[in-house]
Amino acid sequence: MKATDRPFLPYGRQLIEEEEIDAVTSVLRSDYLTTGPIVEAFEEKLASTTGALHAISTSSGTAALHISALAIGLKPGDIAIAPSMTFLSTVNAALYAGADVVFADVDPDTGLMTSEGLEKALHSAGERARALFVVHLNGQTANMAGLAQVPTFDRLNVIEDACHALGGMHSDLDGKMVAVGSNAFAQMSIFSFHPVKTVAMGEGGAITTNDIKLATRLRTLRNIGMTHDPASFQSRDQAFDSHGSANPWYYEMAILGLNYRASAIHCAIGMTQLGKLRRFVDKRSALVRRYRERLAKLAPLIRPLPEVTWCKPAWHLFVVLIDFAAFGCKRADVMRVLYERGIGTQVHYIPVHRQPYYRERYGDLDLPGTDAYYEKVLSLPLFVSMTNDDVDFVVSELCSVLGEVK
Ligand SMILES: *Cc1c(COP(=O)(O)O)cnc(C)c1O
Repeated sequence: MKATDRPFLPYGRQLIEEEEIDAVTSVLRSDYLTTGPIVEAFEEKLASTTGALHAISTSSGTAALHISALAIGLKPGDIAIAPSMTFLSTVNAALYAGADVVFADVDPDTGLMTSEGLEKALHSAGERARALFVVHLNGQTANMAGLAQVPTFDRLNVIEDACHALGGMHSDLDGKMVAVGSNAFAQMSIFSFHPVKTVAMGEGGAITTNDIKLATRLRTLRNIGMTHDPASFQSRDQAFDSHGSANPWYYEMAILGLNYRASAIHCAIGMTQLGKLRRFVDKRSALVRRYRERLAKLAPLIRPLPEVTWCKPAWHLFVVLIDFAAFGCKRADVMRVLYERGIGTQVHYIPVHRQPYYRERYGDLDLPGTDAYYEKVLSLPLFVSMTNDDVDFVVSELCSVLGEVK
């Protein structure tokens, strides 16, 4: 195929088939556009997929992160530890709850939080450290068993941002492989179903947990803080009549929540997509293997991410580390020329601590692993409907562009 005949290859995109369209139209013909049976079915399917006891759907991954911070009672004066090499929302979640963040550095080759990075962050956070957000970047997990060895890990509320890693596995403390989201080390795991993620539902997110109290609190928080459950009513005089029956109109708000519900329309898409998770993950893995084969001869100037030993990844992004300096070229120019040739690339991520909001709050920080990773990363196209031929095209264009652009 000539380059000009090819459809543009974005760095990521959803695959929507007839089943998703049918699922949406059947919701539109039903009684429930929001809440209702499909939302519960989606949550049950996500719980069984991840092996967690409870799953709570939300309107986005950001919303899920926000209420996870509220659910653990994170508050002003507290510190949450988080990597800077992540999407904005992971860190923002702590700030939404009024807490502060101390950034933990990451491995310069994988972008994943390290035990040393965590230890150093804990040291500067001191007594105020309350929560830890760990990010499973690109589809590989952080070494949770390793992080759990860090003294005082047990005193932290641990939240895994697993938005990149649905469908992956990682080892628990005994070295047994468990599903991402099963919460072997964490109170909660967070997922996003934005169209660029492995499972898409338009906008959507979820939290998994094994703690029934947290699950109940999260359901209340995503529903404006409102409950209809008589067992939890506090204002007995208002809630019950003289015979002790709950008043039929009565609802109660004891905590401040938000409307972060996912609609039934979105959950119908998510439900159908979840049924395809294995196929999606396997196809992405096959494309990654193809990329790795094609790129092998180009090391060390262009390197795919090293594969860590403690997880079975579910690749969300295909990231290469490129020594742009050695090629004598600029990443921006390479991205522009690739774009002109029909190839979308992206940088995941600009370190959060470099954002003006965070610089104003915390000044210029020294996170050498994070900065070294950021210097080199480039995400190449990876999505389910890509072909091996597309992969070969991307690799050959990347090589020729790196050779040409000065
Ligand atoms: C996508 C993503 C989020 C936010 O999810 P949204 O659904 O877009 O709000 C948070 N963290 C990470 C690591 C993500 O990739």
